Amino acid sequence: MLTLTFLGVGNAFAKRNFQSNVLLEAWSGSSRQQGEPEDTLLIDFGATGPQALHRLKDQPGFEYLDHGGVVDYRKIRNIFVTHLHSDHIGGLEELAFMNTFIHAQAGVGHRPLLISSSEILTDLWEHSLQGGLGVLHGRQAELADYFVVHPLEAGLTAPGRFVWSGGYELQPFRTDHVRLARKYDWPSLGLLIRDCVLGESVFFSGDTGFDFEAYRGMMTASRLCFHEVHLGNEDLSVHTSLKDLRTLPAEIRGKTFLYHYSDAWDLGRYEVVDREFAGFARPFHRYVLFD
Ligand SMILES: [Zn+2]
Repeated sequence: MLTLTFLGVGNAFAKRNFQSNVLLEAWSGSSRQQGEPEDTLLIDFGATGPQALHRLKDQPGFEYLDHGGVVDYRKIRNIFVTHLHSDHIGGLEELAFMNTFIHAQAGVGHRPLLISSSEILTDLWEHSLQGGLGVLHGRQAELADYFVVHPLEAGLTAPGRFVWSGGYELQPFRTDHVRLARKYDWPSLGLLIRDCVLGESVFFSGDTGFDFEAYRGMMTASRLCFHEVHLGNEDLSVHTSLKDLRTLPAEIRGKTFLYHYSDAWDLGRYEVVDREFAGFARPFHRYVLFD
């Protein structure tokens, strides 16, 4: 069984919800029978991630994340990074320092697998994390001091795949999020999550402008979709408006949960979301992707 839980469903500026980061849990049996999954993977860990995980560990069924009242970061075995905005990577410094100094055993820190395209991993260190993590015990440190770095082999149109926990595959695809001069020239990724045994998939958009032509095949074939949304009237090319999402075919809207939304989600004017889509994704709810 593979489950997906949003640590938060908010956009970068949301205050009533945590930012849109996700915990995947792989279970040999069932989340209802086991106290702890066999394997875990975070999709992004932004600035509000530590606070969200701190809250999640107190929810029924997530007690395994608790270690004496603090988050046990050793339970986070893998982290996939979609792109370098702070709402997706801003919690990694805390996670790395906690693993290095608080959860260290016999002087050896816990190092989760850190997965992304090689260009994102290089920029993650050189332009973001190095500022805080660059010195360790009186020496220069590097990304590999804190993580087992797992760059996905770059392909022509997308980075390579990652086979995870035996039977699941993460299949990243480029998203049209931020452009410097042209489409795809600033790296950002979405994910197709596949159960190799069942042959089924779930679509996770990552941050993206509306690009259904690129995603049509994946969304049509997937049993569930999670798509980002920008609520509000601003025409933001870097995110996807509700107006654009409402043009999706009805059969796709019916299996698509919306996430990455602003604090205005529960104003009456967005009631359409629950009628025309699978609904707004809920934080701390364990969605079963594959049973
Ligand atoms: Zn972003």
